[in-house]
Amino acid sequence: MKLYPLFADLAGRQVLVVGGGVVGERKAAALLEAGARVIVGAPALTPALRAWAGQGRIRWRPERFEESWLDEVWLVVAASDDAALHARIQALAERRRLFVNVVDDAGRSSFHVPAVVDRAPVTIAISSGGQAPMLARLLRERLETLVDPVVGPLATMLAELRGAIRTRLPDLALRRRFYQHLLEGPVQGLLRRGQRALAQAAAENLLASAASRPATGSVVLLGAGPGDPGLLTLRGLRALNEADVILHDRLVSAEVLALARRDAERIEVAKQAGHHHTTQAQIHALMLEHAAAGRRVVRLKGGDPFVFGRGGEELEFLRHHGIPYEVVPGITAALACAAYAGIPLTHRDHAQSVRLVTAHCRQSVDTLDWPALAQERQTLAFYMGIGELATLQRQLIAHGRAATTPFALVENGSRPEQRVVTGTLAELAERAAAHQVCSPALLIVGEVAALAGTLGWFGQAPLAALPADSPSRVAA
Ligand code: SAH
Repeated sequence: MKLYPLFADLAGRQVLVVGGGVVGERKAAALLEAGARVIVGAPALTPALRAWAGQGRIRWRPERFEESWLDEVWLVVAASDDAALHARIQALAERRRLFVNVVDDAGRSSFHVPAVVDRAPVTIAISSGGQAPMLARLLRERLETLVDPVVGPLATMLAELRGAIRTRLPDLALRRRFYQHLLEGPVQGLLRRGQRALAQAAAENLLASAASRPATGSVVLLGAGPGDPGLLTLRGLRALNEADVILHDRLVSAEVLALARRDAERIEVAKQAGHHHTTQAQIHALMLEHAAAGRRVVRLKGGDPFVFGRGGEELEFLRHHGIPYEVVPGITAALACAAYAGIPLTHRDHAQSVRLVTAHCRQSVDTLDWPALAQERQTLAFYMGIGELATLQRQLIAHGRAATTPFALVENGSRPEQRVVTGTLAELAERAAAHQVCSPALLIVGEVAALAGTLGWFGQAPLAALPADSPSRVAA
């Protein structure tokens, strides 16, 4: 059976709901929201229905169902738990050419109530024809995350501009281009931030210049998180779905890239410590080239773009060249590695602050503020520290941090191949070498690091001892 989809305008129209239980209440609530005048027929009501009846929001008929009730309504919903009554209502409604929905009985229903994604005035309705309601509900949840909430306000704004758009742009192709620009430009971002007047002004500007205007692109500076695609934000997912071009770092996982629009062009702009494959200037040039050609560029970075990601420099460049941009944060390695290793970064008993530190400095790690870093009761998260572990260990101890302070090295945090190596500061470099810890890895130093042993939950258990065949184990 194939259904004909239909959106009904029920404002001011009477609808009968037979049944005063929780199901009847749910149906009545949805009908009220659509502006229907709801009549509930049932000997007893839920407290909410009774309250609505008291307030005059619904009309209550406490008698047993009578055929004459059908005379005054446009639709009927049978929501009692009496199958015989449902059969009777269905037969009577059918004879009068009234549409009837029998709850949980697709066979007896002449209309179905879909699962809905509500972006009023935009509504997305999903039906499985009553065959697989759970599937429809799951699809609805998916769409709920995919469809930007700003669609609603955008549609409202467009409704107001509709007349002006039609007069200014009588040509369909031009109109289409205007709408595309509208979706790519700053209007949605402004609406998202609740700046309606500015959004309206931006849309009107766009309209004024639409006939002659070349396409303008934009850049989304997007944090991809540490690897697990589940840690990408919903906004990030939408940006990936809309991208024409994706400029991504090597650190961005294949699973995250797989979420992007299939026909988006993917360009790896790999930078590795020591040998830079693509220089920062080349990355800037690529962003500019694609955005200036009217494309939607996503600059995709591992973790968060503003944490050791040179995101600031990229925005300065874009601002200088007048390219519109947005920033979508990501889960930075310190947060992800700590979470996936079971290490609370702060803890009432152990650490009142956290520092995010890069061990990859312009000059050398010796220029870091070691006395401050060696203070007790704080957690240190070192990025890009793999090559500098011996120095980190030596300097922290030399400046007074106890040699017994626990550390955890988290390699490939949040990814299936995650490894955690733990120990005390005195053993740091030796342990890392013995387990051949590789980049990307994050070093956490502080009392909280020891909790990985008891609170760890993801992947393999922490490697707390040296591997059996390591040279130092053999020597010991
Ligand atoms: N902008 C990124 C950091 C870029 S610097 C962020 O916010 O996470 C690169 C360093 O981040 C790596 O050398 C490593 O120390 C750390 N890192 C990034 N992803 C990681 C991961 N999945 N596991 C462990 N460390 C990671």
